[in-house]
Amino acid sequence: MSRLVIASNRVADLRQTTQTGGLAVALADAVRERGGVWFGWDGEIGEVDEPEVDQIDNVTRVALPLSEDDYTNYYLGYANSVLWPLFHYRLDLIDYRPAFFEGYRRVNRMFARHLAQFLKPDDCIWIHDYHLIPLAGYLRELGCRQRMGFFLHIPFPPSDLLEASPNHAELVDWLLQYDLVGLQTHTDVGNLTRYLEDHTPAVPVREGRFLFGERTVSVERFPIGIDFEIFEQMAQRAPDDVAVDVLRRKVLGQKQIIGVDRLDYSKGLPERLRAYGRMLAQHPELEKSVSFLQIAPLTRGDVDAYANIRLELEALAGSINGQFGDFNWTPIRHIHRPVPREKLASLFRASHVGFVTPLRDGMNLVAKEYVAAQDPADPGMLVLSQFAGAAEEMVEALVVNPYDVDEMSRRLHQALVMPRDERRRRHEALMEKVMRHDAKAWLTAFLEALGDLADKPADLS
Ligand code: ADP
Repeated sequence: MSRLVIASNRVADLRQTTQTGGLAVALADAVRERGGVWFGWDGEIGEVDEPEVDQIDNVTRVALPLSEDDYTNYYLGYANSVLWPLFHYRLDLIDYRPAFFEGYRRVNRMFARHLAQFLKPDDCIWIHDYHLIPLAGYLRELGCRQRMGFFLHIPFPPSDLLEASPNHAELVDWLLQYDLVGLQTHTDVGNLTRYLEDHTPAVPVREGRFLFGERTVSVERFPIGIDFEIFEQMAQRAPDDVAVDVLRRKVLGQKQIIGVDRLDYSKGLPERLRAYGRMLAQHPELEKSVSFLQIAPLTRGDVDAYANIRLELEALAGSINGQFGDFNWTPIRHIHRPVPREKLASLFRASHVGFVTPLRDGMNLVAKEYVAAQDPADPGMLVLSQFAGAAEEMVEALVVNPYDVDEMSRRLHQALVMPRDERRRRHEALMEKVMRHDAKAWLTAFLEALGDLADKPADLS
């Protein structure tokens, strides 16, 4: 079995994977199983010519810092001020600057130069996400002929939107340097396929497969999942403070709605808060018997487009609390601090509704985590945006249009009053899907498609 080489913008801390998300755990397990390399940015800003190399058993961790200029132009600039909004269909928020694109190319070229030194001829290379689209192209320029796969964790936009980017042709040319391009949903696969058919010389040879020059490129859907078992178990061990909170709400007969997101404009937070406010206005009988806990720490605070979100949300939450709250009732609690995963899992379990309404999302793992955390005997109900990748599979949730505040308000109320039998029926179907399509299944499917699991180990099957 060939070694696995993973390149991602951030390198996981391979000595502490229990503390990171399910995905990092699954990837770290796979690279440990086969031996190999994990390559990427160490999260620091500084000037270093050579990467830091750390050998942990059979895995080489190769990490390097970004210079101030690269951090500004590659990371904050092209990755997060151009590609992130563009791929989330937000042309209005894109900040194009030639220096950003130059930085993006420069860092990917530099990454390729460093990574190439650690490659062996029969390695299987798996590159992750929008930061590193050009990496295979630059590796190929250096003569690397290994099998290379790419997985895009965020949505892929329709041609009409992609074409608004001055660099769309280069971006897709870079994608065509991979042997396999993995996307989250049927919609994403359809969008890339249409672009390839309409705008490139790539010739479709059969479904999901294109001939490009001498090479074939596959485009396939691999919906990402969570580490179901770990999350389910975590949810059952409520820390003391959560247990007390649950007890208090039980005594008061209160139901809790929960939202958990990075504070990002793609998450539909203002619309979500408005929908909650509208529901309170339309259902005065809910006074004091419902509360909304929104956990949303600010990330990427250095990107201009994020600057106003926090203020907007604080104003909205303040106005709802001012209008509906009482001395003994706070309708919305809005928390900016990140919450440890164990606590998050038990908060999900203690909440009657998971309110997940992104305007556009690659998959949305919170939706899956909420389902995994529920008590199957008396589960809470998921209200889910139709524009989250997860909605393609999770049709038993109450699926809503996140732009339609009235519909969200109605569905939120429906979720709060849904009889237990119906909740159980819907939850059982959702749980089965979340369990079956977990992080390990996603990883195995991708690596199999990359044609590299001929003699796969038993515990990855
Ligand atoms: P994105 O990748 O856009 O942030 P996802 O929903 O796919 O969105 O994944 C987010 C991951 O980060 C989930 O595993 C979720 O539990 C975690 N997460 C999100 N918000 C918080 C938070 N406020 N505190 C702790 N973990 C969070």
